[in-house]
Amino acid sequence: MPFAYTGNILHVDLTLKKYWVEHPEENFYRTYWGGRAVGLYYMLKEMRPKTDPLSSENLLIFAPSVITGTPAPAIPRYTVCAKSPLTGAQGEAEAGGWWGPELKKAGFDAIIIKGASTNPIYLWIKDGKVEIKDATHLWGKETKIVQKIIREQLGDEKIRITQIGPAGENLVRFANIVNELKHFNGRNGLGAVMGSKKLKAIAVRGSKTLKIYDQEKVRKVTKQITERIMVNPLSRDLRELGTPSVVRSFYELGCLSSYNWTTGYFKEGENLTAETLNQTILKKTVGCYACPIRCKRVVEVDESDIKVDPLYGGPEYETIISLGSICGISDLKYIAKANELCNKYTMDTISAGMVIAFAMQCYQEGLLTKKDTEGIELTFGNKEAMLKMIEKIAYRELGLGDLLAQGSYIAAQRIGKGATNFIHQVKGQEIPMHDPRVKTGVGLQYALADYGADHMKAAHDPFFKDKDSVGIKEMKGLGILEPVSPTGIGVKKVALFKLLDIYWTVFDILGVCDFGYVPRSVGTMEELLEIIRSATGWRTTWFELMKVGERSINMAHIFNLREGFTSQDDTLPEVFYQNFQGGPLDGQGAINREDFRKAIRLRYELMGWDADTGIPSYGKLIELGLDWLKDEVKDKND
Ligand code: SF4
Repeated sequence: MPFAYTGNILHVDLTLKKYWVEHPEENFYRTYWGGRAVGLYYMLKEMRPKTDPLSSENLLIFAPSVITGTPAPAIPRYTVCAKSPLTGAQGEAEAGGWWGPELKKAGFDAIIIKGASTNPIYLWIKDGKVEIKDATHLWGKETKIVQKIIREQLGDEKIRITQIGPAGENLVRFANIVNELKHFNGRNGLGAVMGSKKLKAIAVRGSKTLKIYDQEKVRKVTKQITERIMVNPLSRDLRELGTPSVVRSFYELGCLSSYNWTTGYFKEGENLTAETLNQTILKKTVGCYACPIRCKRVVEVDESDIKVDPLYGGPEYETIISLGSICGISDLKYIAKANELCNKYTMDTISAGMVIAFAMQCYQEGLLTKKDTEGIELTFGNKEAMLKMIEKIAYRELGLGDLLAQGSYIAAQRIGKGATNFIHQVKGQEIPMHDPRVKTGVGLQYALADYGADHMKAAHDPFFKDKDSVGIKEMKGLGILEPVSPTGIGVKKVALFKLLDIYWTVFDILGVCDFGYVPRSVGTMEELLEIIRSATGWRTTWFELMKVGERSINMAHIFNLREGFTSQDDTLPEVFYQNFQGGPLDGQGAINREDFRKAIRLRYELMGWDADTGIPSYGKLIELGLDWLKDEVKDKND
């Protein structure tokens, strides 16, 4: 009998308007566990190489994990997977909120969606029953309105809804997916995949209680973690200041990404700090399912010239910078408005800010003119222009809006005239707002992430910087014993980040929030292991879990190899091989290109991949139980 998971995987064919339920064996769950691992299993088995991401042949997979929906703290997340229309690589994005746990309670461990509908539809899933419902009346509407209509029509205020807004419908390549209006599967443009299938929303409601193997033990560990969360500075900081807590230190250090990455110095940085946000626009803090940390911000602005609706939450650190200093903007009220617009249209705020900053630099350098912008003065710092551009992109208005909706990589090719010098991306995805010149491990992850540059692929370097750091004190069980300098790029850094990549990949697979457990918070590795064991009844170990993470990394890597990606794609944007310009770090910081390339080669070797090509060895596939993928790498290894 399964504990903590349902044993049911829902398959939906939108072309045929049919669904069926698969009941995999326990060993399937014990091999893949959930999230991206389950998604990649189906993508590799059922999707042909070179599938057009916006065609009906793409799969769209929603996957919580075997432990999602248990009462343990900070395990609310689920993954959406598909081939990404932004990168052409395997795509994935994790979201918190409530939708994942509700899907489990409604009776399913994952949903595998294939095909495409010809008319707008939404899925309604309640206690094991599935309906494909017409969504013509919802198409074109913003997320708040859609949520209200669906709940009213189905007569239940507690229905959890994941959905796309107009940007997803209009196939913006960085459209995202939202649940509860403020929890996002943010990156990789998976909202556009949902739009291409004419799938507006998935509404779920469940009244089933998950069977837990040892309820009392889960309760006991939950209580002890929660008590520490309330007093420990690591989690208190998240609750009181949220993710914007890091703005101040980056601003003071001179590595606050600004003006499309031309400098790390932003003289109005004080305006963007968490403290300023708390004093000016913060309305309240909220959280996700079963999480006592409640790190999420809700903001409100109600002034004659600008209003921000608190139902759409509030900006995270990434958003404050990507729609703030990256665009030369220091007015939190306008950043909050930009966040609200991106949220109601469902666009990734990192990519949205980065494409607008790119266009601002093109305008500054004369590559774009007022004719291209239809009269908009698209200069750095012009906050009204930023809001107008968000609207134009979401609705793909002919001209610049439509062009930027393709993402900065495609837009730069089409503009030509050297515009590619002003984009900052890996595998086509715009980079997040953490500067690898002050944390080289993050740079390694930007370069190596199978779904394009991402800051949530491994814990960041400062958690391992000295013997008193949380990572060094709390993660000896993984063999992490010695501190490593945040700016070094030697062999110890490479070895450390191999482990950290796998460790956070396990979090992604299990739906564990990175902010709930070490090194970013107070739940220990032993406590997390105890939760997993007590929930499932499986006498698992960190050895088994790390292999699950490593298995999915190899599956993603093989997916990308068959799509034509090579080791040349595992690189950093040019800006990080240059010194900082301006501010306290002026003239310093460049990452040595040769050292970085050596680090990538070493990482391949540590993974059991060829140092030149990054192709996994046959032995590595056997070790991970992936011999069913051996033909995918056979020719390449010969
Ligand atoms: S720490 Fe924040 S993001 Fe993570 S589960 Fe809790 S409320 Fe959600």
